[in-house]
Amino acid sequence: MSDIIVQGLTQNNLKHVSFRIPKEKITVFTGVSGSGKSSIVFDTIAAESQRQMNATYPAFVRSRLPKHPKPAAERIDNLTASVVIDQSPLGGNARSTVGTISGLYSSLRLLFSRIGKPYAGTASYFSFNDPNGMCKTCSGLGKVTKVDIKALIDPEKSWNEGCIKDSLYRRGSWYWRQYAGSGLFDLDKPIKDYSREEYNLLLYGSRDGRGEPENPKITGIYHKYTKTLLNRDISNKSRHTQEKSQNLIAEMECSDCHGKRLNDAALSCKINGYSIADMCEMELPQLKEALSQITDQTVGVLVQTLIEGLDRMIEIGLEYLHLNRETPSLSGGEAQRLKLVRYMGSSLTGLTYIFDEPSAGMHPRDVCRMNKLLKQLRDKGNTVLVVEHDKDVISIADYVIDVGPQAGSNGGEIVFAGSYEDLLNSETLTGKAMRQSLPVKQKPRLSAGSFPVRGACLHNLKHIDVDIPKGIMTVVTGVAGSGKSTLISKVFAAQYENSVVMVDQGPITATNRSTPASYLGFFDAVRKLLAKENGKPDGLFSFNSTGACPVCGGKGVIVTELAFMDPIITGCEACGGMRYNEEALACTYKGRNIVELLGLTASQAMEVFEEAKILKKLHVMEQVGLSYLTLGQPLSTLSGGERQRIKLAKNLGKKGGIIIMDEPTTGLHMSDIQKLLKLFDMLVSRGNTLVVIEHNLDVMKQADWIIDIGPDGGKHGGEVVYEGTLADMIKSAKTLTADSLRASCT
Ligand code: ADP
Ligand code: ADP
Ligand code: ZN
Ligand code: ZN
Repeated sequence: MSDIIVQGLTQNNLKHVSFRIPKEKITVFTGVSGSGKSSIVFDTIAAESQRQMNATYPAFVRSRLPKHPKPAAERIDNLTASVVIDQSPLGGNARSTVGTISGLYSSLRLLFSRIGKPYAGTASYFSFNDPNGMCKTCSGLGKVTKVDIKALIDPEKSWNEGCIKDSLYRRGSWYWRQYAGSGLFDLDKPIKDYSREEYNLLLYGSRDGRGEPENPKITGIYHKYTKTLLNRDISNKSRHTQEKSQNLIAEMECSDCHGKRLNDAALSCKINGYSIADMCEMELPQLKEALSQITDQTVGVLVQTLIEGLDRMIEIGLEYLHLNRETPSLSGGEAQRLKLVRYMGSSLTGLTYIFDEPSAGMHPRDVCRMNKLLKQLRDKGNTVLVVEHDKDVISIADYVIDVGPQAGSNGGEIVFAGSYEDLLNSETLTGKAMRQSLPVKQKPRLSAGSFPVRGACLHNLKHIDVDIPKGIMTVVTGVAGSGKSTLISKVFAAQYENSVVMVDQGPITATNRSTPASYLGFFDAVRKLLAKENGKPDGLFSFNSTGACPVCGGKGVIVTELAFMDPIITGCEACGGMRYNEEALACTYKGRNIVELLGLTASQAMEVFEEAKILKKLHVMEQVGLSYLTLGQPLSTLSGGERQRIKLAKNLGKKGGIIIMDEPTTGLHMSDIQKLLKLFDMLVSRGNTLVVIEHNLDVMKQADWIIDIGPDGGKHGGEVVYEGTLADMIKSAKTLTADSLRASCT
């Protein structure tokens, strides 16, 4: 079995590195963020493997496959076909569910078409994505989008007081006059005092609320908004209009199928009293139980396949999901585990499987289970490559490649390659951090009152009451699916909406031209500096203004729209993709033009700039562990963890607010976690209330207060199983988190 060989690799920040990766082993890549792990694993190994695979297809097929550029290496040998299992979201729409993505739903359909009673048809009659099976009212989505009357009409107000909450209908406007001038309504009567008939007339244009509008003078407000907001493509309207309509429409359960997505024929077909929709609403262990009750021998193999699939999902800690759950609502970690399950069922061997931080979102208990699956993949004869920061995952490595010593241009070297035992004795940042265990905080802060949450019952929450302490750091713990995000990021955040800042991994709502410099607000200072130095106006150094390259308009690319086809995008030749015109590019500060300045990493930029305003922001980037990003890197290219940290950077100056973070350690090296903890201290000392959802034990140890949700995931969770200090938790709590803590503190 010859090793994978890579020689003279200079991809991204890599400094002409050479290394070997053993086949049929687990190799873990470690190192601080930005050191070059992804450049090796994704941009080199995965990309080259994919490129060579694609080259084996005929030209017609090739032209339809994604293009992978050749990595910058002198030699890459002995690759196998590779599969990347990352945290990118799964399938983007409501038709994609845990059932369809895992393949289990198609097996269930087959099962119902074989033995369901009464017989309903062949398998397509159970598909909600097929006209034969779908509920006609919601087209198989299980929900419908409707105009939200509550958001549109203020029942306390009359027409004269502006009862329609849309500025188009303000008193005296053209739209307002269509209704108010119709003579049909008492203009001084608040809507809540309308009779049923009056209300129907307002909403539906007829007194009985049904059928043709019997009154020709007006269209019911509800129908009118349905027409303008729902039955029309508004994607090319202004952002303001789009936002407004988002606020006025709401998704509701379909009143015909009650969210079950299927038509009556499909729903009335049953096995042992359960319809296919019933089975898709069950949590996985319950579904497994229902399937194992099936005694009909003719479907024995099918049932066995289903149960094996369910077992794999349960094994990896996804038992709290149900098959009807829409995949876009899954977290990155859940999506990654679901992808892993798909591959575990495959009988292919000799592949290279590549994972990106598979421990993300996982409780220490579940990490153990996942480690087992990774070993199984290897033992089936596959090569497993893992990018990880988690000590428990690193500990199962047959071989470790540590990239460093630091990030960006200060990284890009292999600082250690060898066994796990040797890593533990090495002097690299990773080796040192592996030997260290942070002590439990000695004097937790006391809260100054609390933010009460009462009767929380969203998703799996069991009508719980919680008090979130004010002005200190609370860590919310619990296994995946126990209800942490539901409680904190949904219920608590919605209740205290006005003071809450969510520092999460979601997309950054800024224009697609945003960069760290513009997002953190120091781009203007850089432009002023260039302007002053060269005696030019500031606007010259903005690529959306006078400084823009005249050919591409500052986009850096030329987009050629073609009828019936995807547009062709080519780099702009005039500016070479630099976006600026010649006049702007000719101006320099300390010998660097605007493009060169934006190309500096934050740590390089600290050596170049002298202005306090700029240095302060660069320092903030360093504090959140992003010093390796360049000032001009488009924010759209950041990973989830990086997005979260740059949002944190933006909010570091905040005082007296509530800051919520969901797994801020994702993507962070152990040595950077200590820096992060210092920032948390700083935020709290400024009077902020900090609520952090975390599985990382070092973060828990620094908490002033712990709220543990459980006891397990899904319907077996949703309760507060512990509230108090960490020291007391370790002493006496009987929860899964307390068990993990005790195991790690001994
Ligand atoms: P890690 O995976 O260890 O976090 P990466 O391999 O993603 O690190 O990044 C290593 C360095 O290469 C960083 O300085 C990063 O900004 C840079 N880099 C990553 N991707 C690209 C790219 N597509 N083009 C240029 N530089 C990149
Ligand atoms: P945690 O944050 O502890 O991992 P979550 O709050 O994400 O847990 O999930 C708690 C429960 O709520 C789980 O059973 C999960 O499947 C369910 N759930 C979470 N989000 C949704 C959603 N958008 N739709 C339906 N169920 C959901
Ligand atoms: Zn329906
Ligand atoms: Zn151009």
